[in-house]
Amino acid sequence: MIRRRRILVIAGAAVVVIALVAGLIAALAPKGDDTASGTPSASSSLSAKPSRSASPSATPSPSESLTPPGFDKTQFSIDDPASIWVVSDKLRPLNPVDYAPADLKAMPIPTTWGAVPYLRQPAADALTAMTQQYTAETGLSIQIQSDYRSYASQVKVYNGWVASKGQAAADLTSARPGFSEHQTGLAVDLVGVPAKCGLNACFADTPQGLWLASNAYKWGFILRYPQGLTPVTGFEFEPWHYRYVGVELATEMHDTGVQTLEQFFGLPAAPDYA
Ligand SMILES: [Zn+2]
Repeated sequence: MIRRRRILVIAGAAVVVIALVAGLIAALAPKGDDTASGTPSASSSLSAKPSRSASPSATPSPSESLTPPGFDKTQFSIDDPASIWVVSDKLRPLNPVDYAPADLKAMPIPTTWGAVPYLRQPAADALTAMTQQYTAETGLSIQIQSDYRSYASQVKVYNGWVASKGQAAADLTSARPGFSEHQTGLAVDLVGVPAKCGLNACFADTPQGLWLASNAYKWGFILRYPQGLTPVTGFEFEPWHYRYVGVELATEMHDTGVQTLEQFFGLPAAPDYA
């Protein structure tokens, strides 16, 4: 009898210990999971509910409290030619028309004409990093077909287009002097190595064209003259022409799906010169 009692006591104690250990494990394990995934959504929904129910009485417009903080479109000038946000189109000549950037920087990027290319320092650094990343990812290369152009060189380029295609056709591809993004030192024409579809719409379908269209915003570049938006930009689809606006603006335009600077800043469409 005594042995049986001892066995029962020992067995009972073992059950209690097992139950305690199991309870301890059960109590600890779910906590690990909650902190990893469950708790943040639970706490956010808890904190969101009171503010939603309180906002209609606290503020006149409940929808305002649900809108994320707006992008500040006035951080940089769109008029100053030295601003990375400057909007240059057929209705917005550079002021002064012979503006020249003060921070041009050489880039270690190949060009179709064999000489050293230049852009303004922030654009040059971003383009260098972007083309290096492209090569690291794909084993392919990007080169420059046009970089910074001065007012004087834009005169030559534009006159060359007019001579070969006539003024109407020239105005769809090349800006008049004083109206060119290339004169800001923030715009660049890109092509693959070896060059294929240079300054041609078929560049959009090359590996480089496809990659740039999807990824350039991460380095602060936008495709400035998108397909189907000639009535807004005044220029035909130029899948090779990228404009540096900084990562913040390029990402905002990418995320909101707004394709042109004119539409983003609420500016008039600029299909032709005034
Ligand atoms: Zn261009």
